[in-house]
Amino acid sequence: MPEAVVFPDTTEQISAIMKLASHYRFPVVPRGAGTGMTGGAIPVKGGVVIALSRMNRIVEIDTANQIAIVEPGVITAHLQREVKKVGLFYPPDPASLKFCTIGGNAGECAGGPSAVKYGVTKDFIMGLEVVLPSGEIITTGTRTEKGVTGYDLTRLFVGSEGTLGIITRLTCRLLALPEDKETYLISSSSLSAITGLVARILNNDITPCTLEYMDRTAIRVVSGFMTDPPPAGTEAILLLELDGTKQEIEQLRDKLQHMLAKEPEFEVRRAESSDEVTQLWQARRSISPATFNLKPHKISEDVAVPRSRIPELVAYCEQLSKEFSLTILTFGHAGDGNIHVNIMLDKSDPAQLAAGEQAKERLFQFTISIDGTLSGEHGIGITKSKFLPLELNPATITVMKQIKALFDPLNIMNPGKIFPEDDSISSEKR
Ligand SMILES: Cc1cc2nc3c(=O)[nH]c(=O)nc-3n(C[C@H](O)[C@H](O)[C@H](O)COP(=O)(O)OP(=O)(O)OC[C@H]3O[C@@H](n4cnc5c(N)ncnc54)[C@H](O)[C@@H]3O)c2cc1C
Repeated sequence: MPEAVVFPDTTEQISAIMKLASHYRFPVVPRGAGTGMTGGAIPVKGGVVIALSRMNRIVEIDTANQIAIVEPGVITAHLQREVKKVGLFYPPDPASLKFCTIGGNAGECAGGPSAVKYGVTKDFIMGLEVVLPSGEIITTGTRTEKGVTGYDLTRLFVGSEGTLGIITRLTCRLLALPEDKETYLISSSSLSAITGLVARILNNDITPCTLEYMDRTAIRVVSGFMTDPPPAGTEAILLLELDGTKQEIEQLRDKLQHMLAKEPEFEVRRAESSDEVTQLWQARRSISPATFNLKPHKISEDVAVPRSRIPELVAYCEQLSKEFSLTILTFGHAGDGNIHVNIMLDKSDPAQLAAGEQAKERLFQFTISIDGTLSGEHGIGITKSKFLPLELNPATITVMKQIKALFDPLNIMNPGKIFPEDDSISSEKR
């Protein structure tokens, strides 16, 4: 629990709070909607939580330059809706988009299904206004497409999980809204056939705007959302979307059909109506909450691997599931190798909890051994900090800590996040 929660309206108020925090040396934790998956907004060292929900204004939509200037508390889906009204498009689309904030997205560098074609939050943030722990207000980046005036501080702040400063304003890059979209469901009774198909699609010069994957358990937990669920015996599916002009979509469709024509192990179905598309996305976005129908708790990870190695990762999760007698689901953003691994358990059973923790450590070790990363989009927070040395060598962690100390010499800005404390996993296991 924090000692206090404040709801500022302006950058100047936040600056005043940070000056007090520096003077009295109390921790400050920025909070968007609190949907982060790694505990980033939890005030583990107490102090003051700065809730940014009142700073939720879209300050400007500049259609001529395809830019939006927003405050951090704007809900992601709200920005998307508003820019769509003027024919523009803000691509980052985490499954939580109806309730998470742009500030939180920048804090974690959130991604979503559209990242396979368009990229993640860092690719759409051109500049920031930030209040530093000292209370000073800085601006980073530009309103121009190009800009190399000094270091790229924008990229440093995006994904810094609120540990360097509080983002109070964001300049977001927008795109023209694609003319059209088509949605396909590709199913197979072979898990390895589906996971292997991901890299083949992308290497065939077919860039879908989404390429999402679900294994059989993920399908089962959300099949109630679909009026026409995949056939019995389906081991895995891909949800694939093509966007662009009608002509571009036609070309991509032809390539896809040509590629899959001689492969009877795949059943390909095009969504017939906008209702069906809505249902499929409702199903996809509901996987995470629906998993709690299986068990009351879970360890939820978002490792990422080079896309050609997805089959190895998914097969390894199946192996872990058998070895530890735990239900483990895999689903997520297959197009960019970012697979969500949910280890389901009941925490009141100490044996299950211990098995889950062991399975998680083995998952991380395996991911790193196949050139992957601990987190594709959820960040490190508190849940993964002790595993940081599995991926980063001591010198790299030292440089990151020095950067943190430069911005935050008193360690008052969201302390206890990202960096391992005493119980870290030995780097010898790297
Ligand atoms: C059902 C569900 C589905 C999800 N799906 C996805 C997904 O598809 N992709 C994905 O990437 N994530 C996903 N998430 C995780 C989460 O929604 C994202 O990480 C999101 O970006 C967090 O936004 P928030 O506003 O809730 O931030 P919070 O959880 O409040 O904060 C996240 C971090 O950012 C920091 N922060 C918040 N605001 C600021 C600020 N103004 N300045 C500096 N630091 C700040 C916080 O201190 C914290 O460290 C999902 C979560 C849920 C519950």
